[in-house]
Amino acid sequence: MNPPLVSSNVAAARIAIIGAGLGGLTLARVLHINGFRSTIYEAEPSPDARSQGGLLDIHEYNGQAGLKAAGLYDRFLDLVLPGEDAKRVVDRHATILFDQPASAAPTRPEVDRGALRRMLIDSLPADTIRWGHKLTRVSRLQEGNHEIAFKNGVTERTALLIGADGAWSRVRPLVSAAKPAYTGTTFMETSHPSGSTVSTAIETGTLMAVEPGKGILAHRYADGTVRVYVALQKPEDWFDTIDFAKRSSSLARLAHEFEGWAAELRALILNSETDLVIRPIHALPPHHHWARTETEGVTLVGDAAHLMSPFAGEGANLAIQDGAALGLALCEHRDNIEKALEAYENALFSRSAAFADRTARNHERFFGEHAPQSVVELFAAH
Ligand SMILES: Cc1cc2nc3c(=O)[nH]c(=O)nc-3n(C[C@H](O)[C@H](O)[C@H](O)COP(=O)(O)OP(=O)(O)OC[C@H]3O[C@@H](n4cnc5c(N)ncnc54)[C@H](O)[C@@H]3O)c2cc1C
Repeated sequence: MNPPLVSSNVAAARIAIIGAGLGGLTLARVLHINGFRSTIYEAEPSPDARSQGGLLDIHEYNGQAGLKAAGLYDRFLDLVLPGEDAKRVVDRHATILFDQPASAAPTRPEVDRGALRRMLIDSLPADTIRWGHKLTRVSRLQEGNHEIAFKNGVTERTALLIGADGAWSRVRPLVSAAKPAYTGTTFMETSHPSGSTVSTAIETGTLMAVEPGKGILAHRYADGTVRVYVALQKPEDWFDTIDFAKRSSSLARLAHEFEGWAAELRALILNSETDLVIRPIHALPPHHHWARTETEGVTLVGDAAHLMSPFAGEGANLAIQDGAALGLALCEHRDNIEKALEAYENALFSRSAAFADRTARNHERFFGEHAPQSVVELFAAH
C-alpha cells in the first residue's frame, strides 16, 4: 500500500466512500465523470447479496436532479415503470376515500430500487467498489487523514472519508454524538407472489388503509406481485412477543390487531406467502448537524447524515441529491477539500432539516388522530 496522502487537493487525495447505497454510488459516479477517482467500501459481499426490494418515486427537484448531475438521466428514464403511481386511500371498511389512477406522464416516476442501484453500479469502473468490506473501526490520523479498518482484516488510509453507510453509520460518530431514535412505528413487510390469490382490495399501484396507530399499505407491481407493509405504533419490545420465525402464527397475531377491519384488507396479511421482515422505523433528530471545524477530512451523505421516517418518500431522493451535491462541490473546490465540505454541508443542513420536518408531519398524518382523512388531504394536495 502507498503511504497516506495528506492532501487538500481532490485529485491527489485518496477518497474512501463507505457504503454502496444510492448516496455513495451517486457520489462516486459524479467524481468519476469529472475525472476523480474514489473507492467505495461495501459491507455486502456482492451486488446481489440482498434483495433491494420496493419501488421508489424519484422526484424532479432532488432525485432526478442528482441523476442528471451523474449523467444518468436518460438511463434512468429507461427504468421508469409506467402505471405504478396509482394511489388509493381506504378506511377500515375498505370504503374508497381517495382514488387517483395511474398517470400517463407521472411527475414522480416510479422505478425499482434494485434496478436503480444496479444502473449506478454498472456506471462505475469495475474496481471502484470493494465488496465484502465492512467498516469496523476508524482512527483519526493527522491533518484530516483517517485509518479505516474492515472486518476482513484489511486496513486503508484515506485523506477524505465519506460515510454513506446508512442508518447505523460507523462514520457518523466521528462528526456527531447523535443516534437514531425509534419513531414509535414499526413496519412488517411481506408479499404475495405474482398469480397468487391476494385480495380484492388492491387493484393497481398503492393502497393505503390507515387509522390512528395502525395501517395496511400495499403495492401491486406490474408483474402482479403484491408487497404489503403492516404498520403498527407500538413500543419496540411489543414486537419481541411475536415469533416471526413462525409465519402463520405471526400473521394471525398481526391480523388480530386489525379485528373489525374488512376481510379483504385482513386478507392482505393472512394470505401472504413470504416470511415477515420486521422494520422498526428510526430517525435522527430533524435538525441534525455538526461543526466543520472539528471534522477535518470527513463528512456524511444520505441516511448517515439525516435518517428520517419514510413518510414523505424523500430519503432515497435526498441520498442521490447529497451524493451529487458533494461530488459537484469537490469538483468546484478541487484545490481545497475543506472548502468543498463546508459548501456541501451548508446546503445539506438546511435542506435536510426542511424535509425531516415535513416527514415528521406526514408521519402524524398517516397514524395520528385524523387518519385516514389526513392522508386523503395529503394526496389530494399533491
Ligand atoms: C420501509 C421503507 C420505505 C422507504 N421508502 C422510500 C421511498 O419510497 N422513497 C424514498 O425516497 N426513500 C424511501 N425510504 C428511505 C430510503 O430507503 C433511504 O433513505 C435510502 O436508502 C438511503 O440511502 P443511503 O445511500 O443513504 O443508505 P443505504 O441505502 O442504507 O445504503 C447504505 C449502504 O452502506 C452499507 N453499509 C452499512 N454499514 C456499513 C459498514 N459498516 N461498512 C461498509 N458498508 C456499510 C450498506 O450495506 C448499504 O449498502 C424508505 C425506507 C424504508 C425503511
